[in-house]
Amino acid sequence: MRRVFGLAIAAFVAVMISGSAFAQDQVIRVGNLITDAASGPSGPATIIVRDGKIAEIRQGAATGDSDAQVIDLSDKTVMPGLIDLHVHLTGDPGGDFWKKTTEPTEWGVVVGAKNALVTAKAGFTTVREAGSSQYSAFSLRRGTADGVIPGPRIIAAGPPLAIVGGHGDVSGFTEDVNALLTSGYACTGAVQCAEKVRKASRAGSDIIKITATGGVLSQQGRGLEAQFTDEEMRSIATTAHSLGLKVMAHAHGARGIEAASRAGIDTIEHGTFADEAALKVMKANGTAMVPTLMAFQGVSEGLGKGIYTPVVEEKIRMTLNTVGKAVASAKRLGVPIVFGTDAGVFDHGRNAEELQLMVDAGLTRREALASATTSAAKALDMENEIGRIAVGYSADLIAFNGNPLDDVRVLEKIDWVMVRGRIID
Ligand SMILES: [Zn+2]
Repeated sequence: MRRVFGLAIAAFVAVMISGSAFAQDQVIRVGNLITDAASGPSGPATIIVRDGKIAEIRQGAATGDSDAQVIDLSDKTVMPGLIDLHVHLTGDPGGDFWKKTTEPTEWGVVVGAKNALVTAKAGFTTVREAGSSQYSAFSLRRGTADGVIPGPRIIAAGPPLAIVGGHGDVSGFTEDVNALLTSGYACTGAVQCAEKVRKASRAGSDIIKITATGGVLSQQGRGLEAQFTDEEMRSIATTAHSLGLKVMAHAHGARGIEAASRAGIDTIEHGTFADEAALKVMKANGTAMVPTLMAFQGVSEGLGKGIYTPVVEEKIRMTLNTVGKAVASAKRLGVPIVFGTDAGVFDHGRNAEELQLMVDAGLTRREALASATTSAAKALDMENEIGRIAVGYSADLIAFNGNPLDDVRVLEKIDWVMVRGRIID
């Protein structure tokens, strides 16, 4: 009896939630529609959104039911919301590295809620959270999914796996302090690394993030080559895949990139010094590259201002001459290039500036747009849900002036955003 009563309550609540959240169709009048980065603007259209999904697309101006909510974007271009595969919502740039000792993890959720809104307003309707302080990104993910806070759909890694004292672990303090601040996700050896993957999965990771090589912004001068052993990386990749999770690897040095790809890592983040040999291995293994050119743009703007410690400044200067070159080589060799920025290293909300940097590096405007829509959706295994405006897809839409196929910089100013059928304002 009690069970039946419980079910009745659950059904009633479900009706209340769906009934109140999406009571009416939304009829969106569009001036110029781009349904897919592969096809050009097709002129005026009407999109009908129902229960957070695209229900119909009609050419020209159409009317929906009389009780529908009409959204007039008849003087705007509308395209699928953009996807950024590498952001750090829970942090802002320029923080002194010792703030790890003074800022609680929970503060990351507050900062992240602010940045989720900024990011959505910049036209990004899906982001991949590439490493956060403990589990703060998981709360943000739930917040935007449930509509408690405005923001993009979040695919979250949680804490990254790193080698002890390596990039992504804690360094630069006394050993007592390092030991206190470590996230619990540093690992040594294939067995322990497999265990950390399973622990991340249990905690709620959608994807496993590892720091495969040294990094620019950590307090250790050990170069930018491989940090994990081949055996450790293979263990991480096979364990993650056995749980249905992909692996994204931060990697700068060429041999570290090559080793990560051979180990079965799915995407290489940064890929700064990727050479011909490394890129050929990536091509053979179907490993995609996420260039994060904005990260370098952002840190270069902060050079010489006392923001970075001397060990970090040295590493930044080492990378700046090379940035972007691997993108042109990757394109030539047929390596998939997908959009990601490393927002958080620079101010959140500037994500779309990456598009012009990609064009400067050798992509066509259409390729740059595809990298941030259809290709990024594919990298997430979500190509049947996001990245296009099509019937049955999530209503993730952005509106702006101009044609991004003539000038991608028109996407640096977005006038209207919808995520999962919810208007962001
Ligand atoms: Zn990053």
